[in-house]
Amino acid sequence: MKTLIVEDDFLARSLLSTLLSEYGVCHVAVNGREALAAIGRAFDEEDPYDLICLDIMMPVMDGQEALLELRKMEAQRGIRGLDTTKVIMITGIDDSRNIMKAFRQGQCEAYLTKPLDRHKLISHVRDLGLIV
Ligand SMILES: [Mg+2]
Repeated sequence: MKTLIVEDDFLARSLLSTLLSEYGVCHVAVNGREALAAIGRAFDEEDPYDLICLDIMMPVMDGQEALLELRKMEAQRGIRGLDTTKVIMITGIDDSRNIMKAFRQGQCEAYLTKPLDRHKLISHVRDLGLIV
């Protein structure tokens, strides 16, 4: 599993990276713009990310905007349906409105609220069929 963690908070980023590194390669980005650069490069190298953990509230470019751009990049490349990148949105517990928006629009597969729970994270990744 190739994962991209997009998170501006050092502790959350480190925790996610530690947990998910057990299951494969793990890259990190600190905002949406950096994430999109990494995602574009991965598509160009035909080695796309299997999973993106995407924080919503970040400086420079937030997670909502990055998610929309990701889906546009996929559409431009003819990547559809089950082939699209699995995205787990991450946010503070008080930010459920943002999460619901992404869900309603069918753009993300799952979400996690902070403080992050290791077991919930792994069970989402398992439910997405990325690990056994
Ligand atoms: Mg944040």
